[in-house]
Amino acid sequence: MEDKQHCPICKSETQYNPRYPNYICSSCAETPLSEDGRSLQFHNVSLSGGFEARYIDTGEVRDSHICFVAGKKCWADEARFGGIVIQPVGD
Ligand SMILES: [Zn+2]
Repeated sequence: MEDKQHCPICKSETQYNPRYPNYICSSCAETPLSEDGRSLQFHNVSLSGGFEARYIDTGEVRDSHICFVAGKKCWADEARFGGIVIQPVGD
């Protein structure tokens, strides 16, 4: 059964998700960085969704979906059914 997929960063097994076939596992997604190496946090704006990125050090809102995980450029966005999903871009 092809109901498995793997984190593109650490290769650990992630829950099968046909909509997000290349999403980053929760432990890698814990430490996203900006291009200048600042820690970021992503969350939904409200219960109905929305996406917001913030710098952890200042709490400042960041107007971008781009982040870096283990040196890979990634795109963070709200997941269709709530929460946040991060996937590599380019490659
Ligand atoms: Zn991972």
